[in-house]
Amino acid sequence: MAAPQASPEIHQFPCLKDNYGVLLRDAATGVVAAIDAPNGDEVAAALKAKGWKLTHILTTHRHGDHTDGNLALKAASGCTIIGPKGEADLVPGIDKAVGEGDTFMLGSLEVRVLETPGHTKGHITYWIPSAAVAFAGDTLFALGCGRVFEGSMEQMWGSLQKLAALPGATRVYCGHEYTLANARFALTIEPENAALQARVKEIEALRAKGETTLPTRIDVELATNPFLRATSPAIRKRLGLETAPDWQVFGEVRERKNKS
Ligand code: ZN
Ligand code: FE
Repeated sequence: MAAPQASPEIHQFPCLKDNYGVLLRDAATGVVAAIDAPNGDEVAAALKAKGWKLTHILTTHRHGDHTDGNLALKAASGCTIIGPKGEADLVPGIDKAVGEGDTFMLGSLEVRVLETPGHTKGHITYWIPSAAVAFAGDTLFALGCGRVFEGSMEQMWGSLQKLAALPGATRVYCGHEYTLANARFALTIEPENAALQARVKEIEALRAKGETTLPTRIDVELATNPFLRATSPAIRKRLGLETAPDWQVFGEVRERKNKS
């Protein structure tokens, strides 16, 4: 009988103004990965505080607030940098480019790669099924989603649908603490959603204490995140898009958020 796999230890910490840094340690092998590197000094300080030695950086996308620490951390640790195939030329220090359907071992953990383009053209999400955890960068946020800078609304909707299809209990780590602003916007799109109303109260209480709202969970997002709820009759009616394809409903929600 195979030994049960120990869950990785995950340490999330605020970085820059509203980013999160995340460190993951596989106890079986001592492998330590940073998911994105918003700032070299802040990631190094978090590693030091935990007493962990960096072996990998997993880059979700090329933006500076996710990659600015790559080169300094690599110089200090000799870590391996894994990043998106679709924008590998724009990821500082990248050693290994990965894309849709790729899997790789992070110590004893199998990581699966999902391409989730739209925010940037090559954005990827890292999913570790055995630990029920995913690192979604700037594709999905708690009650929100990333701005669609480099793809179409239809493509971003497809990316979000990939995440929506993960097991409901999957914990999702996101690149930013935008949850309170997202919550207030979500109420303008689906004010009658009781699960959303309750969640907004929880979020307001957490943020009033300065606490994080992340990670979130796929099932919680499906029930409350207006960017995943394009099939909701109430949302369609409010937007006047009763018969539009799902991606257009999503696109209208995204446009309204951009203007909010
Ligand atoms: Zn970004
Ligand atoms: Fe970002």
